[in-house]
Amino acid sequence: MQKILNYINGELKEPTPAKWVDNYNPATGEVYSLIPDSDERDVQNAVDAGLAAFPLWASTPREERSRIMLRIAELIEQKMDTLTEAESIDNGKPLWLANKVDIPRARDNFKFFATAILHEHSEAYQTDNEAINYSYHTPVGLAGCISPWNLPLYLFTWKIAPAIAAGCCVIAKPSEVTPMTAFMLSEICIEAGLPKGVLNIVHGLGPKVGAAIIEHPMIPAISFTGGTKTGQYIARTAAPMFKKLSLELGGKNPNIIFADCDFEEMMKVTVQSSFSNQGQICLCGSRLFIEESIYEKFKTEFIARVAKLKVGDPNEKETKVGAIVSLQHKEKILSYIQLAKEEGGKILVGGGEVKLDGRCTNGYFISPTLIEGLPHTCRTNQEEIFGPVVTLTPFKNEEEVLMKANSTQYGLAATIWTSDLKRAHRMAHKIHCGIIWINCWLLRDLRTPFGGMKQSGVGREGGFEALRFFTEVKNVCVKL
Ligand code: NDP
Repeated sequence: MQKILNYINGELKEPTPAKWVDNYNPATGEVYSLIPDSDERDVQNAVDAGLAAFPLWASTPREERSRIMLRIAELIEQKMDTLTEAESIDNGKPLWLANKVDIPRARDNFKFFATAILHEHSEAYQTDNEAINYSYHTPVGLAGCISPWNLPLYLFTWKIAPAIAAGCCVIAKPSEVTPMTAFMLSEICIEAGLPKGVLNIVHGLGPKVGAAIIEHPMIPAISFTGGTKTGQYIARTAAPMFKKLSLELGGKNPNIIFADCDFEEMMKVTVQSSFSNQGQICLCGSRLFIEESIYEKFKTEFIARVAKLKVGDPNEKETKVGAIVSLQHKEKILSYIQLAKEEGGKILVGGGEVKLDGRCTNGYFISPTLIEGLPHTCRTNQEEIFGPVVTLTPFKNEEEVLMKANSTQYGLAATIWTSDLKRAHRMAHKIHCGIIWINCWLLRDLRTPFGGMKQSGVGREGGFEALRFFTEVKNVCVKL
């Protein structure tokens, strides 16, 4: 059985406790590798390595940091097929999706921040004829980076790349549910010549390894993506130590469809924004609000398209919906479908598990599910399900849909479909979300700020915002 190893001080190492956790292939339900069940001693070793490496890495010329990061990007590109396959096996997502989205984006994250640091600038302020101030950014030191299982290498590198580009050394933990491509990244970093101790990856359980990172006094910045509950624990724990926090948390995103939209384009993209990656993307629209005059037309067409989505083996080209990431998560999604029924919802399509033949007999599959007839206040419409489940709700006017869209504790992303430009801007302005898509979805520009409001998080990732997060700004005032 393959053993995943920690990456500490430039070397691949077994965990100190000599204990392992099973790693499952969700499409088959079989254990196919072992994950280190590391503990706080491994985190301490990683911290020691990071602290030792930091002075040299922070003072390494940015051209050199950039060169090494571009080499990492190049190696990801070269190993595209093996990384793609590993991501699909570990997560259950269709192979074509990992190949089209996840691994190219991991490569691009390194490329983007490797070149972004070459274009950073500092600022100067002249105070009349009295003084000149200049301010500049210095790396914060050690950064703790913790990521979830839904877009494993994509989100892991979205944190690591800006941190090391900014001159920080990193203690990182991928989700224990999907650790394989993070392990492969450590091999790539060794091959690329990343100096030892700059990136340290400690595998293991959230409450053990993750908590040891959060609680460690020598890690002053934490970049976390995951659930709101875990985010609350992190905020509580980090606050007395005044750590810098970037928290990208849950969502319950509204997708608002007006009658004057480009119906065909909206329909095509709404199928994707509802069910891509089995609905396990923090940006998926899970509450669909449809203007009353096109509600029936929308419903008929959407049911027809969703019913055709093939749930199947992630290896097959025709598969549109792959496996749910874990048995535990499958049970959680099914419990929400049950709850929706108890709350009076009508299942229009799907609504349960799918049993496949062949190698996927014991895999975790759920059919894409549409539900209507629920009030916006019920738990199904308020709580994050994070699976292939969406609700349909008609609305009469802008005021009503705004009230409903803004009624949850979350504020991550929203999608608006309309041909009326003024209305699009008006709605975008009034929706309490950090990310608004108008007549599109998941059209990403890596320079833009990315993050949520309310319980969807604190801070922003992306572009210079991310680089700045991993630094402290210092102002120097010189009297003239
Ligand atoms: P979790 O919060 O359960 O886990 C996220 C990461 O935190 C994992 O690596 C996990 O480790 C770790 N962790 C768990 N407990 C602790 C702890 N006590 N201390 C430190 N680390 C801990 O989230 P999921 O992995 O279930 O991911 C799904 C969630 O992520 C959804 O809510 C989704 O909305 C959100 N998300 C948000 C995004 C955004 O940009 N806003 C993007 C993508 C997802 P382990 O896996 O080993 O338990």
